[in-house]
Amino acid sequence: MCSFSGLFDFFIIAVYLEKWVCRRMGIRQATEAITPLLVQQIMKRGLNSNPQEVNEMVNSRKIKDLHPHVATLCQRFLDECSAAGYDVLITSTYRDNESQAELYAQGRTKPGRIVTNAQAGKSWHNWRVAFDIVPLRHGKPVWGTLGNGIDNNPKDDEIDDLELWHQVAAIAKSVGLEWAGDWKTFRELAHFQYTGGLTLADFASGKIFVV
Ligand SMILES: [Zn+2]
Repeated sequence: MCSFSGLFDFFIIAVYLEKWVCRRMGIRQATEAITPLLVQQIMKRGLNSNPQEVNEMVNSRKIKDLHPHVATLCQRFLDECSAAGYDVLITSTYRDNESQAELYAQGRTKPGRIVTNAQAGKSWHNWRVAFDIVPLRHGKPVWGTLGNGIDNNPKDDEIDDLELWHQVAAIAKSVGLEWAGDWKTFRELAHFQYTGGLTLADFASGKIFVV
């Protein structure tokens, strides 16, 4: 029998378990997918359970998990950003309802700060039509929003975070995406979407836009 002396032991076991599961499943690299929660679920269901089935909660960063048209717009946005010299990181694309509920609980019934106003099924991410980004400056994420915004003054580009957000948002809008930084309520600089003029209620009733 082994004894668990603390979190570190758990981590070591998790790392070895990950390697073992990956070998069994023929997965070359699953570092991102293996979380403590996942390990817990594998333990519960048995070591032969499929990681795909085990990881029930989905909070994806993959472009391919978006609606095909939104995925195309997102890729075009990234390509144009990189052509213009902007480095942008996708932080979230599709989230399933369970993952959304978990996010909604944060800062309300669970510790942490509030990160979303949308309950499960009420986020555009749940319908695969939205993604979140963070712009990078010299490889580092720029979470801040301080600055003057667009001022055509290249001298302050290194410190004007808001201007950077506006510059990448302008590219997103030029490819046909909507920027939540323009919203009057629940303004969210990181969030972009294409809804084809449909509402959340439309999506919930099974409608999908045609392109
Ligand atoms: Zn978002």
